[in-house]
Amino acid sequence: MTASGLDAQQRERLRQKRFDTLHQHVVAKHLRKGFQGRWTRRDWAHASLFGTMAVLIASIVPGLNSMPGDQALMKQQYSAFVLPMPALRAANVSALNGWHSVRREKDQKVDDLLASLQLSKKDRQLLNNQNEIRDALRSWSIGDSREFSFTNGVLDGLRYPLKDGSLVSFAINGKKFKRSVVAADTETRVVVLSGEVGDSLVASAKAQGLNDEQINTLTNEVFKYDVDLDEDVSSSDRFSVVVEQTYRNGELVSMSDVLAATLTTGTTLHSGYRFEQNGKTEYFTPDGRPLKKEFIRTPIPYAPLSSSFGGRKHPVLGVMRMHKGIDYRASTGTPIMAAGDARVVSAGRNGGYGNAVILDHGRGITTLYGHMSRIAKIRPGQRVEQGTIIGYVGSTGLSTGPHLHYEFRVGGVHRNPLTVTKNAPEPLRGAQLQSFYAAAAKSLAKIQNVEAVVFADQSPAQSQLKAQLAATSAGQKPLVNSKAPELRKQ
Ligand SMILES: [Zn+2]
Repeated sequence: MTASGLDAQQRERLRQKRFDTLHQHVVAKHLRKGFQGRWTRRDWAHASLFGTMAVLIASIVPGLNSMPGDQALMKQQYSAFVLPMPALRAANVSALNGWHSVRREKDQKVDDLLASLQLSKKDRQLLNNQNEIRDALRSWSIGDSREFSFTNGVLDGLRYPLKDGSLVSFAINGKKFKRSVVAADTETRVVVLSGEVGDSLVASAKAQGLNDEQINTLTNEVFKYDVDLDEDVSSSDRFSVVVEQTYRNGELVSMSDVLAATLTTGTTLHSGYRFEQNGKTEYFTPDGRPLKKEFIRTPIPYAPLSSSFGGRKHPVLGVMRMHKGIDYRASTGTPIMAAGDARVVSAGRNGGYGNAVILDHGRGITTLYGHMSRIAKIRPGQRVEQGTIIGYVGSTGLSTGPHLHYEFRVGGVHRNPLTVTKNAPEPLRGAQLQSFYAAAAKSLAKIQNVEAVVFADQSPAQSQLKAQLAATSAGQKPLVNSKAPELRKQ
């Protein structure tokens, strides 16, 4: 046996020993839980093997402890024993070749991960001297990967993704670093997410992949004004939402706002289209009128109308009396919203109205909200925006049970809130209307294509979609408009 042969053999044994030790670490973990306090035959065999090896090595190579290479190995062995298993397979450690992806797991330190790659102190120093790389290693977060390239165990490359999804790559040659960046493979797709309402529009929209923000847009911006999402929508009704999805390296990373949405309730088609006008984005009806109305149709979403406007027998007084507002049945504590932008006139006890809030919307329009269990933190004189919660449903004052009594006055005269809130604001005109039609037609065509497939077996509103599409494509006022649902007669 030559000296160098012995050295190689001994190294191989040490490598094997290190491999065993790494595995023993895992065994040791199990032992902590279930160790019976007795060694198995296998344990004894291992122990005697290690013992023999130690004696053998010590006797053959007296200067072992002073050998720098082996010392490094012994250190590695020690640290590998006390640390969690590195991401790399121990058997590969002796001569790494090619790219190795190292993922940082919980409880792993960056230094230990680098150590697991057998990076020499010099290599680590080299990496640390490059500011960008040093930062990338310092900011290596749990779950992220960094990739290292080796040729016969020598580090010659490093790459990792940047925040924008591009991949930065360093070719390493001695002390030389060559940096290059590969742009992320980004793709945007305009998609239609369609579904049946089922038990709830919100849950179903979520199941189709819409995010909370998009669902809020549907319920609070697009359909809030014309649809009572509780009363007018049944489980077999359907919705379609057009959104833009951005994929980066094949992974969905972001979604746009709702570009267009339709809700088909029975045979009625409701739709809204996003359009930017003077730097402000809003949702419009298919004929180019803003969906946002001055007043929300119902100050409590999802509450059934329990008493309509007009003559009725008063439930408490028992006499025929004009009902000067409308009532919504809802459980105590249901939030009540300001129907439109306003200034608070009063907020407090108000005779038979109980806890009530009166809002002034300008131009002689006021609204009143009665029988509240509790008034929100608002005070007279304060300005509130449409949708602000002003109080909570209750049964204070002359009331037989929890409900909201809602009044709408124009110039001091009581009006039916459901008829006065229908007035549509000014529509888009001229060139803006034309570009709106073009964009809306695109979205509609996509929705029609998808719905024709998804709901092929039941299409009462396909004709409406088609007519609307034909009209918007031709740049005309649509023949079929999204009309407000019929009022329920009480
Ligand atoms: Zn009432």
